[in-house]
Amino acid sequence: MTPELRPPRFVARFCEACGGRLERRPVLGRERLVCPHCGYVMYQNLRVGASVLVDMGQRTVLLTRRSINPGFDHWVLPGGYVEQGETVADAARRETREETGLAVALEGVLDVYAYRPSLVAVVVYLARPAGGALLAASDECFEIRPFIEAEIPWDRIAFGSTRDALRAYFARPAAP
Ligand SMILES: [Zn+2]
Repeated sequence: MTPELRPPRFVARFCEACGGRLERRPVLGRERLVCPHCGYVMYQNLRVGASVLVDMGQRTVLLTRRSINPGFDHWVLPGGYVEQGETVADAARRETREETGLAVALEGVLDVYAYRPSLVAVVVYLARPAGGALLAASDECFEIRPFIEAEIPWDRIAFGSTRDALRAYFARPAAP
């Protein structure tokens, strides 16, 4: 993953409890963001993302070409952040529907991907289409298309999680 395509690190400058300016201080064995005004410790925990590897049949997988940063003009699995009040699986289905127009039936988790120092962990689901109609594009992408393994644009993949999920998927034996 090239540096400019790394997801944002979300390093906060102000306390989310009182608005005071945060400082770096040692807390519980490592340097953390601490508010000198109210004592709040702002832990830099990982955010959860959900992505979906949709098999359109015969190991043809769906990728979208991003029209926004990070990852502008690069290909990625449909997905996004899990919002408060929804499950990770809900987020996976919602993001896929918003970005591709497809309803999907999730078939389990392929793997969970996280890379230091990024503050994101991505749960990648395997899925099959279960309704809807494939869009030509969406708010976040120029185009959406299925790829067979030999067509995957490996030098134009936006994120490590998409690259590693595709590698893991195609390394599996094909279903009979
Ligand atoms: Zn504070």
